[in-house]
Amino acid sequence: MDKKRALITGITGMDGSHLADFLLSKGYIVFGMERRSSQKNRENTKLLEGNSNFTFLNGDLSDQNSILRVLKISKPNEVYNLGAQSFVSESWNTPEQTANITGLGALRVLEAIREYGEDIKYYQASTSEMFGNMKGVANEHTIFNPRSPYGVAKLYGHWITKNYRESYNMFNVSGILFNHESERRGIEFVTRKITDGVARIKHGLQDNIILGNLETSRDWGYAPDYVESMWMMLQQDKPNDYVIATGQTHELRDFLSIAFEKIGISNWEKYILQDKKFMRPADVYYLKGDATKAKHNLDWKPKTSFEEMISIMVDNDIRKLNK
Ligand code: GDP
Repeated sequence: MDKKRALITGITGMDGSHLADFLLSKGYIVFGMERRSSQKNRENTKLLEGNSNFTFLNGDLSDQNSILRVLKISKPNEVYNLGAQSFVSESWNTPEQTANITGLGALRVLEAIREYGEDIKYYQASTSEMFGNMKGVANEHTIFNPRSPYGVAKLYGHWITKNYRESYNMFNVSGILFNHESERRGIEFVTRKITDGVARIKHGLQDNIILGNLETSRDWGYAPDYVESMWMMLQQDKPNDYVIATGQTHELRDFLSIAFEKIGISNWEKYILQDKKFMRPADVYYLKGDATKAKHNLDWKPKTSFEEMISIMVDNDIRKLNK
């Protein structure tokens, strides 16, 4: 049987790179769409370079024809649209660019698939940020109420994915993933900012970590566990949307406490400063997801605990500095 082929947008990001590793381990031929830039950001994709089953292709979510060209070259069976302006804070500085890439980018990939005319399964990276401030636990039926330009743009991507499924009978799924992190997370996200800061404090390179709102809680999972769910969604007989979450919510303070504990510091408060510049015009204070449908239909469940994930991230940041 011919090997399956997958195209991933957002290949240089955390999820894109973990998904590529996963699909290669499943025997796929993988193509990663990458924006041209004079300074390439291939930190997360180092393992992929030199793998004969992996190819980088130049393309841009803001350029319709470039996506069609990438489809024609890669001839994928599955497309994973993970490319986005994904940092919530930044979406207030560049709301239009966020809408263009994070929202309309999804439309352009779907239009390119239609134009290309082959049967392709499509995965859209939806997010718990679409729920905004919620009470209780969110599942696939919970009402959306986004609180950031990023959340609003993602909601467009979510609905257009569903609309194209219903309008054109396309195999489109949205994974509504709650926060997920890993050692490949961008340094501006709070989890990685903390684990990197803790590693620097251990090495005496930094005295404090400067954060924004500490009164926040997230349902944090481990990204490599989460990318598997994306693939599982596309292996089903029928396209469907799924919430992916651990079902456990932790305060940011818990994250700090466990990360500092790793380097033998129990009075972590002494090392934290706050600055208004890291606070948002509107924040989401609490997120918790119910992944019962994914457990039932996909047999998916998270494998890595909150503590294990923090431990992996701190160890990795310490190792990086040792180098
Ligand atoms: P998000 O859930 O996608 O917005 O992920 P982030 O990691 O960017 O933020 C998670 C939560 O941490 C939000 O409620 C932020 O307001 C809060 N937070 C507190 N301090 C910081 C900080 O210095 N940087 C970031 N990125 N978030 C912070």
